[in-house]
Amino acid sequence: MTLTPNTPIEQLGRLNEDQKKALHRLKISTIQDLFYYFPNRYGDTENALSIETLLEGDTSTVYGQIEKLDTGKTHFSKVAKATARLRDETGTITITWFRQPYIARMLEEGSVVKVTGKITAHNKKLTFVNPKVEQATSIPTNTGNPLFGSTTHTLYPVYSESKGITSNWIYHGLQKLFSEEVHKQLEDPIPKAILEKYNLPSLHTALIWVHNPKSEDNAYTARKRFAFQEVFLIQLKNQKERNKNAQNQSFKIAINEARMKEFVKTFPFQLTKSQKDAIQDIIEDFASGKPMSRLVEGDVGSGKTAIAAATVFSVTDEHLQTAYMVPTEILAKQHFENFIQFFKDIPMAQQVKIGLITGSGCYKYPSKVNGEIATKISRAQLLKWIANGEIPIVIGTHSLIQKTVSFQNLAYVIIDEQHRFGTVQRQKLARKDDMTPHFLSMTATPIPRTLALSIYGDLDLTIVDQMPTGRKPIKTELVLPGEKNRNVVYEKLRESLRKGRQAYVICPRINEPDPNKQTALNVASVKAETKRLKDTVFPNWNVEMLHSKMKPDEKEKVMKQFENHEIDILVSTSVVEVGVNVPNATTIIIEGAERFGLSQLHQLRGRVLRSTHQAYAYLFSDTKTETSINRLKALQSAKDGFELAEYDLQFRGSGELYGKKQWGISDLGMEAIKNIKMVEFARKEAQKLLKKDPELEKHASLRQFLEQKEEVHFE
Ligand code: ADP
Ligand code: MG
Repeated sequence: MTLTPNTPIEQLGRLNEDQKKALHRLKISTIQDLFYYFPNRYGDTENALSIETLLEGDTSTVYGQIEKLDTGKTHFSKVAKATARLRDETGTITITWFRQPYIARMLEEGSVVKVTGKITAHNKKLTFVNPKVEQATSIPTNTGNPLFGSTTHTLYPVYSESKGITSNWIYHGLQKLFSEEVHKQLEDPIPKAILEKYNLPSLHTALIWVHNPKSEDNAYTARKRFAFQEVFLIQLKNQKERNKNAQNQSFKIAINEARMKEFVKTFPFQLTKSQKDAIQDIIEDFASGKPMSRLVEGDVGSGKTAIAAATVFSVTDEHLQTAYMVPTEILAKQHFENFIQFFKDIPMAQQVKIGLITGSGCYKYPSKVNGEIATKISRAQLLKWIANGEIPIVIGTHSLIQKTVSFQNLAYVIIDEQHRFGTVQRQKLARKDDMTPHFLSMTATPIPRTLALSIYGDLDLTIVDQMPTGRKPIKTELVLPGEKNRNVVYEKLRESLRKGRQAYVICPRINEPDPNKQTALNVASVKAETKRLKDTVFPNWNVEMLHSKMKPDEKEKVMKQFENHEIDILVSTSVVEVGVNVPNATTIIIEGAERFGLSQLHQLRGRVLRSTHQAYAYLFSDTKTETSINRLKALQSAKDGFELAEYDLQFRGSGELYGKKQWGISDLGMEAIKNIKMVEFARKEAQKLLKKDPELEKHASLRQFLEQKEEVHFE
């Protein structure tokens, strides 16, 4: 059978069920996908020995195949022990793991590994004890590496595995494809002129170099090309989306500025200049008759809700509807209440109605009986009022985008904390009517500029870089290990509680770890910490917990109690990270701080920056490594969240950035995003190309590639 790039991967060889499932998990469904499954690193075969030459007492490296795995207990003690037999062409050796059976559990019989460690003798037999084990692709031999055909090639690719599919399997699959020259059937999506301009290798060369590099330089160049390709395609997709959007019609909303000013006057504060500018940007977009696509980025506490409220007012004033979507029920509830505050005294002929729609219940403001408060109503009733336009403002979680919710004249869609939603949802919502609604997305997650340019390339950007006046900068303190250091902080907290303030304690996990799992790390859990604080540290204060596994109504109850100051200390996971607003909470203690990304820590401490009281953040950490400590110290010195996000991206990698999964960017693409030049070049080239060829009619392979990509992203 002749293989083509579109051939289903099942036809590459005989596959068992486990393998099929593994390939599915790895998102490899065609031959082409396999070509695009890049190694996550390269191993080096230098200095490896063959098994027969190993000597007792040496620390050595060998390559071999795992033949037999045995995970059990030693006879006499209860110490967990695992063994394996490793074979190469010259012989076998035992590997023994004491107290680390989880390492053995990560291996599979048949996989090829590189083992480095000390050789000891046991009953005259040599054995590796607790060695370092890495995946490898092949066993190099003294006569030269048979896979690379020459003794000089010491690099081999290592692929991420999934149970059933080893790195070795992927390697050999690809070798077969290369030898049959299947890669030559793949068309290069990047126009040749662009490749030449930026000195990037062709697709065929790059594929060989990435999977079979002769040198590190080869591998690097190939990866650079694929990184460019990914960013370029994202840019093309976004720019195309943007051009398409610009052709749509939207509600032309001429704002009655005098009335809006009157509305804003009812706020309990004066808008900052940044807030006013953002409102201006938005109402100019409204007036254009073209659908707005705008992202407002502003640090936690910069007052984005007020921007939303002012602009929602002007839409409501024109008898049009707004949908306001937030990521969690807690937040939806809170925004509902905020909006009631904003809208309750407005200078309108009639009280503005506001609806709340979440998975666990629906509410309407004002209540018919008691105009001051909201009442619970049935979902069906609320949907009816949304559909006939009687309720102009609807706030909700993602249940807002379900098909059953239809609006009479939806003109304005706001998504808060944008990073929590994927682009998919954003587009679903935006496509509801014939008329495209104006779209505003807001985020407190500072996103590095290069990333924003890539993932939000289809949005205009407004940055709110000013904080309301009167805020004292938060005092952030890194607390080093030790009972004494802890007690100092607890005493400070008691003092603050006595003054009538409240506090958050954030833990990295909900439950105590399972003692049978070796992955257990010694970090605080919400449950254990709540008990400890309640019983021994703050017995005279009210300590309660909040976490994501609780039922919605339990969560809601705890939040309410915290808001009403019936709870002094709220112990929680990072569920409070987005948007929760209790101005009287002025201290936040973060346990296991080194386990959070900097921008997440920044978000978390933003929870206590809600009032004019002095706020404190205490970062507890057991870390002893200097880089970790320096990283946490960046929180004390950074000027704003953007600086921290850049820091995370550069030093910890993209994994730390929020929402990474939803953006559909590979690790390689993320690497590219560290490189502002590359992102800008890719953006420029995408714009240029679309200007000349808006529908990509002259770039068939590119268009096809984009369409395929879309299928993957918008499943
Ligand atoms: P975020 O940008 O994080 O969404 P919020 O909109 O929740 O911030 O605002 C944080 C707090 O600041 C709220 O309590 C809000 O009432 C208050 N606030 C907003 N704008 C101003 C302002 N211009 N002056 C004083 N306080 C403000
Ligand atoms: Mg907010």
